[in-house]
Amino acid sequence: MDKKTIKDINIKDKKVIIRVDYNVPLDKELKITDDRRIKESLPTITYALKEGARKVILMSHLGRPQDKVVEELRLTPVARKLEKLLGEKVLKLDDCVGDAIRQKIECSQERVILLENLRFHKEEEKNDSNFAKSLASLADIYVNDAFGTAHRAHASTAGITKFLPSVAGFLIEKEIEYLGKAVENPHRPFVVIMGGAKVSDKITMIENLLSKSDAILIGGGMAYTFLKSQGKNIGTSKLEADKVDVARTLLEKAKKAKVKIEISSDFVVVTKFDSSADMKIVKDIPDGWMGVDIGPETRKRFKDTLSMAKTVVWNGPVGVFENDAFAQGTKEIAEYLAGLKGVTTIVGGGDSAAAVSKFKLDNKMTHISTGGGASLEFLEGKELPGIAALQDKK
Ligand code: AMP
Repeated sequence: MDKKTIKDINIKDKKVIIRVDYNVPLDKELKITDDRRIKESLPTITYALKEGARKVILMSHLGRPQDKVVEELRLTPVARKLEKLLGEKVLKLDDCVGDAIRQKIECSQERVILLENLRFHKEEEKNDSNFAKSLASLADIYVNDAFGTAHRAHASTAGITKFLPSVAGFLIEKEIEYLGKAVENPHRPFVVIMGGAKVSDKITMIENLLSKSDAILIGGGMAYTFLKSQGKNIGTSKLEADKVDVARTLLEKAKKAKVKIEISSDFVVVTKFDSSADMKIVKDIPDGWMGVDIGPETRKRFKDTLSMAKTVVWNGPVGVFENDAFAQGTKEIAEYLAGLKGVTTIVGGGDSAAAVSKFKLDNKMTHISTGGGASLEFLEGKELPGIAALQDKK
């Protein structure tokens, strides 16, 4: 799945429209509380400017305005922040399509222009062809650099590609390189760490990775449904009763595929979901107790398997890491991955990325995927419409 990137196309003197992901968190005063997504968009923007693009037109959604103009969800604070980070004036427009917008772009002094929130128009999420055409009419070349929305076929991610030469930006290129390679052609052994709250969210991913990985380590809340399917005691731990059969079938499939599955075998348990509650480490979970983290024996077993890996994909924390008292297992796994040499370590999925960030190990991983839903669908083996629609490398 080799897609053309912005490096494979001549952009000199061209108007380049880039779909970025500026869906940033804002506080009540409309201040941006985390500008990572804006920073991450800079390499593609500065490259386009350096290569002599005549205009760089940026477009994004922000929040859920539900098809109408919502003053609090205008992209104005993003424009001001971008201006600071880029060190260059950014023209912020108050809409994203129409003749007036096209004229403003043509007459602008600024090289960088940010269009208004795409989702103020219902046509964006409907992938309306006329709306996509109007967006396309603003530019000569389309670049998709918004991995977080690449799993959605919207006008700005899929529809627009019918009207313009379409290539990937550097962020999407990186996601394809790491997530794509891990799933399609990993350096082996390929080990997957699976955690998080629910089995139901991850069934398709486990099924897809069963045929591709060498070992799957299962921790977190989802482990208890698997343990239940093996007849183990799980006390009051998280259980999806309607998924016990599915869990059992997955384990049988893994056995047939000769994929090693390791499920947590000792646990940090508490009587209630509170760090002041009684806490102990057990192998057999007593009635009235619930598992909130993997225990020391499991941590060691997981690390032993990880020590042989050449590629690791981690999706979902192995404990309730948000609470420091239950974070040790997730922390040890993160630290172990951070210390591995010559191993491709990929963190895919919003919550494991948050965990790695909490332990300040972001820079120690090979790749942290930027899109929660999109990286999950990638790992499920699904085609992402926003990537599939880009031009293939010849
Ligand atoms: P996910 O979005 O599926 O990756 O789930 C992440 C959530 O799973 C985090 O908020 C964790 O607190 C939660 N989680 C991890 N381990 C457990 C557990 N043993 N019991 C309940 N929830 C858990």
